[in-house]
Order: sequence, then structure tokens, then C-alpha cells
Amino acid sequence: MTTLFQPSPQNTGNGVVVGTALHCSLRGCTSTSAQLCAYRDRRGRQCHAAFCVAHSVSFAGISYCRRHAGTVQAIGELAKDPNGFPDLNDRAPSLVNWIARDLDQSIRRLLGRTARSGESVIVDESVRLAHDPARKARWERSWRIVEHTGLILKVTVHVSEDNDSLVHVRVGTEMVADGVPPWIARRREGQEVEAAIDVSQRQLFYRFLEENISGAVLRFRARGDRAPWGR
Ligand SMILES: [Zn+2]
Ligand SMILES: [Zn+2]
Repeated sequence: MTTLFQPSPQNTGNGVVVGTALHCSLRGCTSTSAQLCAYRDRRGRQCHAAFCVAHSVSFAGISYCRRHAGTVQAIGELAKDPNGFPDLNDRAPSLVNWIARDLDQSIRRLLGRTARSGESVIVDESVRLAHDPARKARWERSWRIVEHTGLILKVTVHVSEDNDSLVHVRVGTEMVADGVPPWIARRREGQEVEAAIDVSQRQLFYRFLEENISGAVLRFRARGDRAPWGR
């Protein structure tokens, strides 16, 4: 983890403003020793949020607002490249990373169970930028079953740049599920719920994704059993 992120010249954590009192951007926080978020996107635009130590997140020794700490964490190795930083307002990378992290255990188990001898499971450690046939950008993370001749099956979670709250799940070429996570739907509507309801809505959402993924993987394997030579 420590070698993952090499600060680029534009991201040296120079959000420290010496001699100026910066107010923390979090409503209700009275701290005047906030630091500017160090995030700078691929177009050179800088985040203007400033947070105190308690309300910012430090990643690889550099201080970010919560949102951009999530972005930097999501893109992994891409953060070594100043051109790899997603646009300032793009929430897609961190959403994909978040969902993928929560689905990771169950997808690994599922693919591990269905892998045959000579096959292995490869998992993306961070999100990557891809383009659909219409050249629209999307952020994705995948789990793959491979053998020595190449790819057998790929499970992908992706979010497009043009709708960064809708999560899509693909198994092979089949779109098996999509949905707006309940916490994002609520934020849009300005709705608040009790913690227990939040937990059960999240569980339902993940169960919905998991069941569709598992159904599609098993269908794929059943087809493979009937026609082992013609994938
Ligand atoms: Zn604060
Ligand atoms: Zn920021």
C-alpha cells in the first residue's frame, strides 16, 4: 500500500497555507487550521475544499477532502500519472471502488467455486478507465476467470462518467443488473433514515447484485458444460 502512491509534482501536499487561517469547510466545525485538499485533476483543476485534521483524510501522507481521498484510493496505480486523475466532480471512480470492495468476498468465493482445474481467478486491485463502443468513458473493476489460453469469464462493476450514480454489473457480455445505491437515491431526495433502515437497504441492494451475478455465472457454466469446445 505504501508504494502504491508516488506524489507527482502537482500533488506534493502543498495545500498547507502558511500564515493564513483557513476555516474548516465542515458545517459546525470551528477549526481555523484547515488545509486545502491537495487534489488536482487531469485538467489541472484544484479542489477548493479545506478541512481540519479531524475532517480531512490523509492518504500516503497527503491530505485530501473525504471525497477526493476516496478517488485517489480508487484509482490506485493511476495516481502515479498526473493525467490519470479523474475530473474534480467525477464520483464514478470512488463509487465503483466502494461497491467492488463490498462485493469482493462474495464474487471471489463464487468464481473460486466455479473455476475448473487449470483455471484461476484474477482480481483488479483498483478501478480503471475504459470506453464503451460509443466511446463513452466509464470506470470499472473486474474479477476474471482465466486459463493459459486466456479469458474464460469476466465479472465487471462499472459506472459511466455521464451518470455517476448508476451502478452496472456485467457477466461476460450479459448486463445482469443495474441500480442506484439506496444511500445515493436518498441523498438525491434529501431523505434521512435511521441507521437500521440504512443497513437493511444496503443489504438488500447488495443481495440483489450478488444474486444476479451468481445466477449469470452459473448459467454461463451450465452452457459451457453442454458445449465445452464452443465458447
Ligand atoms: Zn473540521
Ligand atoms: Zn477535494
